Amino acid sequence: MVRIYRGRRTDSGATVVTVDGTRVLLPDAGALAVRFDWGQASAGSTALARALLLDHLDALPARSVLHRFAFTTVQTWTEDRWTCTMFELDAALRHVQQQLRLTCPLCADTGRREVTARLWRACACRPLQPEA
Ligand SMILES: [Zn+2]
Repeated sequence: MVRIYRGRRTDSGATVVTVDGTRVLLPDAGALAVRFDWGQASAGSTALARALLLDHLDALPARSVLHRFAFTTVQTWTEDRWTCTMFELDAALRHVQQQLRLTCPLCADTGRREVTARLWRACACRPLQPEA
């Protein structure tokens, strides 16, 4: 099944983002105080990009990937309504990886990825290194 993300601005200026028309997408724990936004460079646009990638990848993207992704997708959505399929997200993400010359979008090829704001783990893209 193709997952479809949709965003709209309400008459009161609030923003609503849904997944497959039913589930409401919310900012992740690292950006709870931020209201989703799009069409400009803003904390809300970054929070939306982060939530979209987290939902799509089931893991947080590396910050360099997140910011480039926000710049090439969310920040370009200037209408009050937008629709984005999982395939479009995937294509945009692959494009970002090519631009940044990265293999892994989760750790940006560093071998360590962000789990929460304070917790980092070894990334599954690398075999475990023996302790020195
Ligand atoms: Zn990795």
